[in-house]
Amino acid sequence: MEQKVYELIDSYRDEFVATLQGWIRMPSVKGEPEDGAPFGQDVRKMLDRAMADIRAMGFPVRDFQGYACDATLGDAEEKIAVLGHLDVVPVGDGWTKPPFDGLVENGRIYGRGTNDDKGPSLAALYAMKAIREAGIPLKKGIRLILGCDEESGWEDMKYYGEHEKIPDVGFSPDASFPLINTEKGMVVLELRAPAAKTGLRILEMATGNRINVIPGECVCRAEGGEELAEKVRAYAKKTGLPYTAEVTEAGVVLQATGIPGHSAYPEGRRNAIGMMLLLLKELGAEGPIATLAAAVGMEHDGTSLGCACRDDVSEALTCNMGILRLENGEWFGTLDFRCPVTADQEKLKKNAAAHLPGFAISVATQKPPHHVPADSELVKNLLAAYEEETGLEGKPMSTGGGTYAKVLQQGVAFGALFPDEEDLAHQADEFEDIDRLMLAVKIYANALIRLAAE
Ligand SMILES: [Zn+2]
Repeated sequence: MEQKVYELIDSYRDEFVATLQGWIRMPSVKGEPEDGAPFGQDVRKMLDRAMADIRAMGFPVRDFQGYACDATLGDAEEKIAVLGHLDVVPVGDGWTKPPFDGLVENGRIYGRGTNDDKGPSLAALYAMKAIREAGIPLKKGIRLILGCDEESGWEDMKYYGEHEKIPDVGFSPDASFPLINTEKGMVVLELRAPAAKTGLRILEMATGNRINVIPGECVCRAEGGEELAEKVRAYAKKTGLPYTAEVTEAGVVLQATGIPGHSAYPEGRRNAIGMMLLLLKELGAEGPIATLAAAVGMEHDGTSLGCACRDDVSEALTCNMGILRLENGEWFGTLDFRCPVTADQEKLKKNAAAHLPGFAISVATQKPPHHVPADSELVKNLLAAYEEETGLEGKPMSTGGGTYAKVLQQGVAFGALFPDEEDLAHQADEFEDIDRLMLAVKIYANALIRLAAE
């Protein structure tokens, strides 16, 4: 990349930080829909702010009725797309820094949206500015599309696609470097079965409310007294797992403490429902609970469900029980599978059903995988840009999560989290390192020049 582009990007630093601070100060969490504000006033205000900043930078910007905006560099028919988003998830607990202040401290900028996805979106915008101000001639246009509903239903991209042609090729700066070219498919099963009439009597259990979360706590009340509690303590000792039992007048309250996380990333996590299933079976639970203990238990790879599989581009299948509850004498649970590209999803459903006798099973969600070959021009160019700017090796990766990359025929997720950084998206004290963000601007400029310049 030309020296001029580096110099321009370095010169943007203060302006970049000030603009991002302005964006972080907009708490763009989804709210009640209003006219021209389909995701609520707070998101609408963020969109207005972004459009004003983009316009001030000299790009033509278009409002898609509050669903999204776009900004374009170059007037060639064929365009490279960059898909980011301006909405954020709610703050949640545990913050020690102000979530909507744009606080800058020790080279970091803190706040909800700094890394997901306002910081990276702005990095792409400043890359476009550098390309324009460096006067680099383009043979393809560059179109930044900023959506307002990524964290919820993706209604923004749906609306955009209905009103404007979405380019075929591009990337989404909404995940990690080096690059994600494979997004696993998804199958979510809902399971129902009448509670057993024999064995341990379970009186109450309701754990989890989202299919895509690995529950960190599972509490269950069962019939019994001190003798049962003693068995729980013995099992905790035997397994080394954190179980507790408390004898009350209304039975024994059992608790399993896991390690919460996102269902697509079970490595290093521990599903508290899975722990509870194994405990309940040990305590004499029969029927559906015994079946689930044997077929799922604490596994996150689907082995005992007959579903385990992997391939080179996707790595292993993952499976998570996010919800399990007893209501009106019936068990209800969910299994969230993230499936390798080559997995046969129909066969997977059959295998799971065969290992879950007694359950009525329905398919709540089913999505195909998304994959762009590693030897495609897109992947090769983006990885070359990453390698040139960082000196690190660029290898494509797979994810069980989903990004806007799949909105594009040929789309990948590209940054802006670096391999040695902890992913704080959706977590407390979300921040971005400012040096790293400026490096991301250079990577994006380099990448867009490779893809779009003459
Ligand atoms: Zn995001």
